[in-house]
Amino acid sequence: MFADIIIDIKHEKLDKIFQYRIPDRMENELKPGMEVIVPFGNGNRPTKGYVTGISDRCSYDLSKVKEITEISRDSVEIEAKLIALAAWMKENYGGTMIQALKTVLPIKQKENARVKKYLRLLLDEETGKARLDYYLEKNQRARARLMAALLDDPVLEYDLAMKKLHITLPAIRALEEQGVLALESERVYRNPVRGGSRETPDITFTSEQQQAAERFRREYREGKRYTYLLHGVTGSGKTEVYIDMIRTVVQMGKQAIVLIPEIALTYQTVMRFYRHFGQRVSIMNSRLSAGERYDQMMRAKAGEIDVMIGPRSALFTPFPDLGLIVIDEEHEPTYKSEQAPRYHARETAVMRAELEGAGVVLGSATPSLEAMYRARKGEYVLLTMKSRSRMQSMARVHTVDLRAELKDGNRSILSRQLQEMMEERLSRREQIMLFLNRRGYSGFVSCRECGYAVKCPHCDVSLSVHRGGKMVCHYCGYEQSKVTCCPECGSPYIGEFRAGTQQIEDMVKKRFPGAAVLRMDMDTTRQKDAHEKILAAFANGEADILVGTQMIVKGHDFPNVTLVGVLAADMSLYTDDYRSGERTFQLLTQAAGRAGRGERPGDVVIQTYDPAHYAIEAAAAQDYEMFYQQEIAYREMMGYPPAENLTAVHAACEDEELLEKGCHFLKEYVLRIKGQAAVQVIGPASPGIDKIRDIYRRVIYLKAPEYDTLVKIKDRMEQYIEINSGFDKIWIQFDFNPM
Ligand code: ADP
Ligand code: ZN
Ligand code: ZN
Repeated sequence: MFADIIIDIKHEKLDKIFQYRIPDRMENELKPGMEVIVPFGNGNRPTKGYVTGISDRCSYDLSKVKEITEISRDSVEIEAKLIALAAWMKENYGGTMIQALKTVLPIKQKENARVKKYLRLLLDEETGKARLDYYLEKNQRARARLMAALLDDPVLEYDLAMKKLHITLPAIRALEEQGVLALESERVYRNPVRGGSRETPDITFTSEQQQAAERFRREYREGKRYTYLLHGVTGSGKTEVYIDMIRTVVQMGKQAIVLIPEIALTYQTVMRFYRHFGQRVSIMNSRLSAGERYDQMMRAKAGEIDVMIGPRSALFTPFPDLGLIVIDEEHEPTYKSEQAPRYHARETAVMRAELEGAGVVLGSATPSLEAMYRARKGEYVLLTMKSRSRMQSMARVHTVDLRAELKDGNRSILSRQLQEMMEERLSRREQIMLFLNRRGYSGFVSCRECGYAVKCPHCDVSLSVHRGGKMVCHYCGYEQSKVTCCPECGSPYIGEFRAGTQQIEDMVKKRFPGAAVLRMDMDTTRQKDAHEKILAAFANGEADILVGTQMIVKGHDFPNVTLVGVLAADMSLYTDDYRSGERTFQLLTQAAGRAGRGERPGDVVIQTYDPAHYAIEAAAAQDYEMFYQQEIAYREMMGYPPAENLTAVHAACEDEELLEKGCHFLKEYVLRIKGQAAVQVIGPASPGIDKIRDIYRRVIYLKAPEYDTLVKIKDRMEQYIEINSGFDKIWIQFDFNPM
């Protein structure tokens, strides 16, 4: 018998399958997914590898085939089903097979099992009592203490007994030898979910919730496995619907994975699932210890849990019979991996579900263009929930034109309307959130007077300011020198927009000296749990105003917040990214969703230099449809995803000249092989930062209507790179539909 093995070596050129002979002694044991040690190369260096397949035929010269040395005992096996997924990921996102295998195996190393030891009394009561008398008589106090305790409770926890009774191990060994007691041990899994109340709130589904849950249940029980897009406004009760869907699946003996952005994976969220599924729920995240994470994977494999909640990597939980994958806030950019293979959890979930006969539910108040586009095309089933579950009305939205404020002499970052409303809330002891959407922000240049932002003439994205005073387009490489007055209105008030949460906090404190202010951003949340502490303090009413970045708008429920201020809605608009309109709409909608979650209605103030921009208008109108129509028209016109597909080919090299040459040849090669295919080749361009730690970087963009066209070109490029030694020193990575 022979095994197909992927060798664990970084070098791309070794990314192929090698065959090894399976020694007789391993034949019954060796399975695909196992890590093995094999002799590799001319020196037969012991090297790690993964078994990806087993067969009785050998495609190489038999005399040259080497034998597997051993099975690695301290490593975790990859589930056979996940190997197929890894192969799909490698094919569709690029990168090597070993990178793909490691991705589907988030936990690689076995950790020591935690055991609990017990002392069990082996004597009957009468004999035990006689023993106790004997020890007392002999003045063997420790033994007497232990015997008395065992007579009270014949099974004692070892650690507890040792501590309480002050008994030493030799004493226990002695009694064990005499047949008085047995020292037993049992494996216990580490469990990161601290239990809580299992009382489920008594809710009656709204008719929209009912319809969504029922349709899923009916179709699922009929054996249909679809991908559903649950588009529900903030507060429409999506989580309750997920729970109902999961219950349907669990009742059929299957398991479910729930993906949640790491930042929203709070104690409160976990408890909502815990109330329904109790100890059959577990979590996976980066804050767990290695032992905790390993144990959660073992519990999943062993069928001890039904629901796994976690960020992107929890997608690879090795359940025996996966029934459903839920992706909450599916539009979040964190679902895209930034390391090879640069997979998107949404597409990968759909693929895993297909391989394993599971269903998928994507949920969002602001679905990604990709998901909605597919739903409209009929690839996904669309479920819609338009109203809030507890009959609260949506917040009232007020748009403030910051250009007019400036004209009227108000230079403050707080508009007069926002200040007035803040005063009013403070006097009523209601809470306020002030939000600065800095995400994706990279020093765009805009006019404070007319709102004009400097854009690339070829790409319709904002130019970024680079050190040295140039403004650069990250898509095509176009550059021009920095402007000193507005090309539109001539105002000298044009420049990089910079304002931080810290400055805002100081300013708010000065303007409202009586108010307690909390701040949440990268600086204040560096410490472990700081994030949850700030949110808890705010929820407890320890502050009147919470100032923060996009961190504060994620899914938290603060019933006493009745005013949300978005300080500069444009900040996320003019980033150098074709998704900036989408991102802005999502952030504003989420921010608006924070207001008025309780009894009292809420207000939202959106301050902007560009109130007529469709992303801001649609967010102010809380109208997803209006946004989607405009945005998809823009994507179609420009050929951006999801209308077409885009691959970024990143190239990096220590030698700038070599890099330029390599990129040039690569581009020429693509133009040559693409033939009549509708492929656009753009660049090589600057990826924004041209050099990191003395490594130069370039990027080539490929655009095509069909994803498969790009996959095929990627395959050809990989071959070309492999056979041309000029690329030995150039690092190449593919990014499909980058975020
Ligand atoms: P979403 O995820 O859509 O923003 P959630 O599922 O977080 O909404 O629900 C918001 C709040 O409304 C939660 O506190 C939830 O318990 C509550 N809720 C959900 N559905 C109902 C319902 N049918 N009746 C009453 N309260 C509900
Ligand atoms: Zn201007
Ligand atoms: Zn450009």
